[in-house]
Amino acid sequence: MLRTLVCAMAMTVASLAGDPARAADLPHIVILATGGTIAGAADPRSGLGYNAGAISADALIASVPGISAHARLSAEQISAIGSQDMSEEVWLKLAARIDALDKTADVAGIVITHGTDTLEETALFLDLATRTDKPVVLVGAMRPATAVSADGPRNLLEAVMVAASPQARGRGALVVLNDTIHGARDVTKTDTVSVQTFRSPNFGPVGGVSPDRVVFYAAPASRQSFPSKGGPLPQVEIVYAYAGVDARPVEAARAAGARGIVLAGVGDGNASKATIAALQAAAKAGVVVVRSSRTGAGPVLRNIELNDDELGFVAAAFYNPAKARVLLQLLLANGVTAPDKVQAAFLPTP
Ligand code: ASP
Repeated sequence: MLRTLVCAMAMTVASLAGDPARAADLPHIVILATGGTIAGAADPRSGLGYNAGAISADALIASVPGISAHARLSAEQISAIGSQDMSEEVWLKLAARIDALDKTADVAGIVITHGTDTLEETALFLDLATRTDKPVVLVGAMRPATAVSADGPRNLLEAVMVAASPQARGRGALVVLNDTIHGARDVTKTDTVSVQTFRSPNFGPVGGVSPDRVVFYAAPASRQSFPSKGGPLPQVEIVYAYAGVDARPVEAARAAGARGIVLAGVGDGNASKATIAALQAAAKAGVVVVRSSRTGAGPVLRNIELNDDELGFVAAAFYNPAKARVLLQLLLANGVTAPDKVQAAFLPTP
């Protein structure tokens, strides 16, 4: 019975892919390739290392058997970088392409191939800075395309399935890796090597992908929109707290011209007396100060260990430091600077 079912599924996939009349009915998904390990090729010099972004988007698609059964695909190379080098320039290019593809009637969804290191920041940026209801799905891989048991081809197949799914509409940017679908706000990279590195530590994943279907468990989250205004984005620095930290990292951020500072605080977004005093002085001088946590999970809420009302700080709620930085940059770009207004964006009232 199972064997018959598997054979029937395989035939459906094969016949869909091979039938040009049916293929024309499939949704058109555009792949925007930026680089990363998913497009990485082994480095012949070391045999262990690899060059991120060395493989083109078309070659990536060609490496995935059965992908054309799910969608008509076209690919554009936006950049070919490891995501440790992801930049505002690439973010703005991606946002502009998404806005244009939103207006292209023939396009049903967008997949972005990306390195995993900063994937969560790009996902949040695009979630906040673009407004399309079409699915925007970011995908990466932990093993380069030339590795034994590379995870990229399967992740790409699943990302295309999600982007082609009508249920993925209106959910903002999504992240798909290792059979799991995450929302842009909560997802974070949690492991340096595991293929199950992406997790949504506060709210859990929003859905999953199996060989024959895409399933969402969670209703679409409410979205906020803060367009990028074409950049350049305001400067926001992150100050990392640790035992013995003094005022110097905050002073360095201010001297470098930061308009906003995110504290990657210990525990509940806290830091030494010297750091808090330096942040209070910054807030008094008009720098927007947001307290986040280096712990990796749980909210930072107002007025618990510190008196935010008195200090003039904003609590990051569920945004980790890197993501709090992205949201604060977009708020500042939109002229939102008053701590109460910034706070409302970090923790919107239901
Ligand atoms: N350093 C790589 C990158 O983020 C790692 C990866 O893609 O997994 O581009």
